[in-house]
Order: sequence, then structure tokens, then C-alpha cells
Amino acid sequence: MRKPIIAGNWKMNLTASEAKDFAEAVKTKIPASDKVDSVIGSPALFLETLVDSAKGTDLKISAQNCYWENAGAYTGETSPAALADLGVDYVIIGHSERREYFHETDEEINKKAKAIFNNGMIPIMCCGETLETYEAGKTAEWIEKQITAGLEGLTAGQVSSMVIAYEPIWAIGTGKSADAQIADEICGVVRKTVEKLYDTEVSDALRIQYGGSVKPENIAEYMEKENVDGALVGGASLKADSFLALLDASK
Ligand code: 13P
Repeated sequence: MRKPIIAGNWKMNLTASEAKDFAEAVKTKIPASDKVDSVIGSPALFLETLVDSAKGTDLKISAQNCYWENAGAYTGETSPAALADLGVDYVIIGHSERREYFHETDEEINKKAKAIFNNGMIPIMCCGETLETYEAGKTAEWIEKQITAGLEGLTAGQVSSMVIAYEPIWAIGTGKSADAQIADEICGVVRKTVEKLYDTEVSDALRIQYGGSVKPENIAEYMEKENVDGALVGGASLKADSFLALLDASK
């Protein structure tokens, strides 16, 4: 039985004081971590504040990106070693917005995954197809390609402990969610790909999230599907009440 994992992805939203207010509002209300893993993916600027506020609670903190080197002349990048030192638990990598606007490749995402594990954190690796790929009926082969490249060289133990998020690009921020049936089917493609690359033990342990216009009103439909172990949520994670409602619906 896989434990649900609900992660908010704040993207480039909120200010430091709003992030602090959010953390104060939720910190006594986070469900016990034996029921659900509760994660906030924050801009790098507020990570320290959030890690401090979350101390002594079951709220985990995630970065939204990092570089694959721990230190050096990489102006503007974020060191995974520095994130780990701050007390960050997860790092979201390969989000479609980073692939599209910042031209991240599967190869770079793979290097980031290795660096995250080397620093004792857990990657939440995103995959997903465009509307064009979806309509051409090529989603499964696209997802298989992204996952195979993203996991290259990772050990069975690493893949068992990580999280993969399936986010159809056409469902992100559009209010047009993939229905739970499609989400389950494509999360199943992710699991099958991992089974082929590793084995059933690994694919059974891996947690897979669906992301794309998830909100408190529809999260239960996804969570009851066999291959969906959680959600990666953008817009509906920005308000404390809404984030708590997502967690409550997933326990
Ligand atoms: P929305 O929940 O706002 O559609 O965003 C989904 C997403 O991209 C989460 O990473």
C-alpha cells in the first residue's frame, strides 16, 4: 500500500510575508505523516522561512528546481547541497514550464535527479505531453521516452523512493483537467515503464502523482484510482484553506 503524497507547487507566486502567513495558518493542521505526505513546493526565496515554520510539524518542504553541481561559477543557479543544508526534503524537477520556457532537457533533468539523491533529498520528477501529442494518440510513447531518459542510471532503491508526477500540459492552469480515467491510464504507463526498466518491486513502491487543475472538489476522484498516489497542485495550493482541504480529502 503506497502512502498518498500531496504537493503544492506554488510556482512563481506569493511573497515572503504571504508564505510565512500560509505556514502559520496550516502548521497545526497538517495531517499525521503516517496517513499522507504533505509537501509545499516554494520559490527558493521562501524555503528557509518555510523550513523554520514547519519544524516540529509533518509539513515537508520542496524546492521547485536546482542545479546539478553543488557549487561553482553558475551565476543565478541554486545548489542542491545548499538546499539540503537548509532542511529541504524534496525538489520538483522537469516541470513542463521549465522544459518549455527554460529549455530543460531530459538529460539535464536526469543530472538533477542524481544530484538531489546525492544530497539526501527526494526528486519529484515531472512528465507530460502537449495537446498535440495527446490528440495524435502518442501520449504513452512520449511518457515512456521522458521517463526512460529521466531515470537513466538511477538505482532501484532510488527509484523506489522517488515521486513521478504526470501532468498533461493541456491540463495545467487551464481548468481543463484530464479525467480520472485518463490520469489513471497514463500513471499506469509510468508504472509499466518503471517495471520494464527495473522490476515489479520498484514499480509497486514508486509513488505517482497526477497534476493539472486538481482542486479540493475533484481530488477524491483521482485519489481513488489504482495508479494515482497523489497530486501535484498549482493554483489550488496557494490558499491555506484550499491546501488543507486537499490534504483532508487524501488521508
Ligand atoms: P494547476 O493545478 O494550477 O493546474 O497546476 C498544475 C501544475 O502545474 C502543478 O505542478
